[in-house]
Amino acid sequence: MFRIFRSRVLSFPRPDFAEDFPDGFILVSDKGEIVDFGKWDKTKEIKYQQIIRQNNVIDFTDYVILPAFIDMHLHLPQFHLRGHYGVSLLDWLKEYIIPAENNLTTSEKNESFIKAFYQEMWRSGTTTALIFSSNSMKFTDQAFQVAKKLGFRTILGKVLSDNKYSSIKIPIESTEKSIRESIQLYEKWNGYDNLLYYAFSPRFGPATTEKLLKEVGEFCSKNSVYIHTHLAETIGEINLVKKLFPKYKTYTELYYKTGILTPKTIVAHAIHLKESEYKLLAKTHTKIAHCPSSNFFLHSGLANTQKMEDYGIEMGLGSDVGAGPSFSLFTIMRDAYYVRSTPPAQAFYYATLGAAKALGLDDRIGSFANGKDADFVVVKYPYWCTKDVSRTRLLSQLMFRGDDHLTIETYTRGRRVYQKTL
Ligand SMILES: [Zn+2]
Repeated sequence: MFRIFRSRVLSFPRPDFAEDFPDGFILVSDKGEIVDFGKWDKTKEIKYQQIIRQNNVIDFTDYVILPAFIDMHLHLPQFHLRGHYGVSLLDWLKEYIIPAENNLTTSEKNESFIKAFYQEMWRSGTTTALIFSSNSMKFTDQAFQVAKKLGFRTILGKVLSDNKYSSIKIPIESTEKSIRESIQLYEKWNGYDNLLYYAFSPRFGPATTEKLLKEVGEFCSKNSVYIHTHLAETIGEINLVKKLFPKYKTYTELYYKTGILTPKTIVAHAIHLKESEYKLLAKTHTKIAHCPSSNFFLHSGLANTQKMEDYGIEMGLGSDVGAGPSFSLFTIMRDAYYVRSTPPAQAFYYATLGAAKALGLDDRIGSFANGKDADFVVVKYPYWCTKDVSRTRLLSQLMFRGDDHLTIETYTRGRRVYQKTL
């Protein structure tokens, strides 16, 4: 069954340009792919008269359709830990995060917890996310099972930490077990239905050994697998890396020389970097998940996104839930503006196609194009913002005043996965 979604349609094909079809449409096939989209006019009415006659037109003309959002960095086990104020990164990990992650095993309770996590993203208009699980192989497997059952698109991985000399009290496993379990999960899930992917996920420098990083780098380069980790989020973390790995000049050099910086590596934060470190990230085509809300919350510092752009480093936006309090990419875009005056069209690009490109998924998602998956979000106009509002004004209003309350419906692969109850 083909369906026509009639609405104002916005898309962000370039960082400096937003496409706007005030009287627009998207035609979705029975496979959930976009078949046509753009401006609705008389020629379309004639061309698609059969679909109209069959009553397969969904009227969203009072609303706005945007490409669904992509969250480039967040933590599943921290879903319920948002908003605990007053701590910095390392204390926050110790006081809240590690005990919570240790409590996760497989159970029915966890299944509903995982389900609620994915549904919360759909409620915010996000249909794709790069996610840290916990150290537990069983819990990570369960997170994949639930994503499969729901049809949530994710790149997910079990957390790796094997450095027993680190002063942070985090769960430690042997290098061998960490790698073995990761490979098992990768073999079971990576590429499933073009929907689920595996990411080797070293927690961060101070939690890992060189041996582990080298093995991850080798396996992932050879097999073209995602690597997902944190980099230079706080000064305290950088000092720990210096102490644990004195032979490396910088934190980024530790990652570079152990081989984990690849075109399929995404590092979150990358705040406190020296010039040489930007160069290494650019040289290796590493991608960055910029997480401004989390950085404000933990007072970690302000990422230099201008520098990242100057070096041509591809990036997207991450909520970093639970350090970031909100799942809504509108909120993250707004905070990205407060870090640096990012124009709205550019912020929307980073939340959609920019992130899809950084993840290498832009052939399927991120914008409206024929043959791509119909992943989109229907939002209402913010109060006092009428339908005749200009494109520039609308983007600004959505970015500064938007949150998950604006979401009316969310679709992934043409399937409605969230509907607001009015
Ligand atoms: Zn994080």
